[in-house]
Amino acid sequence: MRYEGIVYRPPSEARSYILQVTIGCSHNACTFCDMYKGKKFRVRPIQEVKEDIDMARKYYGPNIRRVFLADGDALILKNSKLLEILSYLKKAFPRLERIGIYGNPRGILTKSVEELKELKDAGISIVYMGIETGDPELLQKINKGVNVEEMIEAGKRVKESGIALSVTIILGLGGPEMLEQNARGSAYVINKIDPDYVGALTLLLREGTPYYDQVMAGEISVSTPYNIFQELRILIENLELTNCVFRSNHASNYFPIGGTLPQDKEKMLRTLDVILANEDLKHMPPDFSRLL
Ligand code: SF4
Repeated sequence: MRYEGIVYRPPSEARSYILQVTIGCSHNACTFCDMYKGKKFRVRPIQEVKEDIDMARKYYGPNIRRVFLADGDALILKNSKLLEILSYLKKAFPRLERIGIYGNPRGILTKSVEELKELKDAGISIVYMGIETGDPELLQKINKGVNVEEMIEAGKRVKESGIALSVTIILGLGGPEMLEQNARGSAYVINKIDPDYVGALTLLLREGTPYYDQVMAGEISVSTPYNIFQELRILIENLELTNCVFRSNHASNYFPIGGTLPQDKEKMLRTLDVILANEDLKHMPPDFSRLL
């Protein structure tokens, strides 16, 4: 297997064989993100991808059950190419049960529901999409490249195709001044999409990003841990979902919160109320050790 640069995957894909079908992110312009800054986006030649699959088959044997397709927005690949890769994977690993893929909203919108259904039938079982925020002003400020309506449309298309959808939002984006806006806007978009999984991460500032420079220039403040829990509480309080696994237990989070919505909503809110009643937490400053 050959990998180019740092390879990212969702925590739930820790046991998957990761296959880079694209290198980098075709958007690569969100102001807070440095994941693929060192990589110029390109689609890997199909022959190269097949060679990697052959190498994985030799190294791991035929019993791989889970595969994750990277990099940033692998779903931007043309369907014909993705279908060829999926079919090759299935031949190499006949016991394959699950194939996950990163898809950013711009990439998803290049596909119709029918095309997404084709991918589902060919083996794609879950798409991971970063919403980041559902607030229109913040979405523009972080340069996500889509507006609220497009974000909702992208999420709905995946849902309609029958592929499971996992989305992430980022607590702390926009700082304490935009805390309520970020939480309510994100809840609105998530409710419209009604995804299967939601992950609420906490912003990690990355040196070298435009967002970091804005913080250093005093244009954006950094949320305190108390602000983050306030924001999470507003978010959860406003979520109206039919059946969704909600997690805020990423390495970026201060305290793990999770459950299934709607049934665990009150329990999660009660936990947050206990946390928010902690006087010490109220006086904790922004965590600048996160300025890595
Ligand atoms: S779309 Fe995702 S991977 Fe690409 S720049 Fe934005 S946050 Fe980073």
